Amino acid sequence: MTDTPGIPPADAEARRAIPPVVAYPNDTLSEPDLTLYTRARASAEKVFETQAAPRDAATFRVPAGHFFRITSVEGPQVGDLNLWAADDLKERFFSGKTRALHGTHVTTGDRLWSSFPYLRPMATVVEDTLGWYGTDPHGGRVHDVIGTRCDPYTHRLLTGGEYHHCCHSNLSRALAAETGMPAREAEMYVHDVLNVFMCTGFTPDTGQYFMKASPVRPGDYLEFFAEIDLLGALSACPGGDCSAEHSSDAAACHPLLIEVFAPAPGALEGWEPARVNAYSRGHGL
Ligand SMILES: [Zn+2]
Repeated sequence: MTDTPGIPPADAEARRAIPPVVAYPNDTLSEPDLTLYTRARASAEKVFETQAAPRDAATFRVPAGHFFRITSVEGPQVGDLNLWAADDLKERFFSGKTRALHGTHVTTGDRLWSSFPYLRPMATVVEDTLGWYGTDPHGGRVHDVIGTRCDPYTHRLLTGGEYHHCCHSNLSRALAAETGMPAREAEMYVHDVLNVFMCTGFTPDTGQYFMKASPVRPGDYLEFFAEIDLLGALSACPGGDCSAEHSSDAAACHPLLIEVFAPAPGALEGWEPARVNAYSRGHGL
């Protein structure tokens, strides 16, 4: 018997009642050694800092084994983070697979994974001062890997207008300045982001992506351990705390501080940078 379009079958409720299974059980992933990282961090000294100005982006480099911290300063602000392997822009952060492996939002102990065919941890979250937030009554959580990045193409599609300071354009300009590429070439390497400090979820009725005012306050930070040599770019989203809108100059917008810390020599003894994925790339041929 086949289903009739639009009419629930007799066993509709039974089919809906089938319990879900986690698509990617992650208990076989190797665990980051947070104890080692914490000890190394205690020995670390700041070696670099920069700021992403409001409605703009900044780049930064983090050698493997160093730490980087993104801090809210001046006022509540969301940041859109891109990461590349420092010596190969083809290897970039893979938000979709990070979501599949860790869930819709990341916190301490979760890793940011790179694109195929590399698929290795690029960075591990080692500290999250918003870890207390959990899940709010609307289903909102912090630091998502579900949004893409605000961009001028979707803005054009939905409003017909031109706006040049969406995170996509900010990241493109910053990567262009870092590499010497034209912005139109650099934008081909800009990718879906980690939405640092952003509070998001899905509406229960329509399943639409929602955002709400970020709970971040000046002094809050998200800190990472670099598992490989990284080039990063961070955009201070034009949406500010993303309580109302993005892709415009309407929201109050604040800078974000980025700091890099180097551990003392020998503090990471026994640790090695993550290796690229071991799949043979045979693809059945
Ligand atoms: Zn944005």
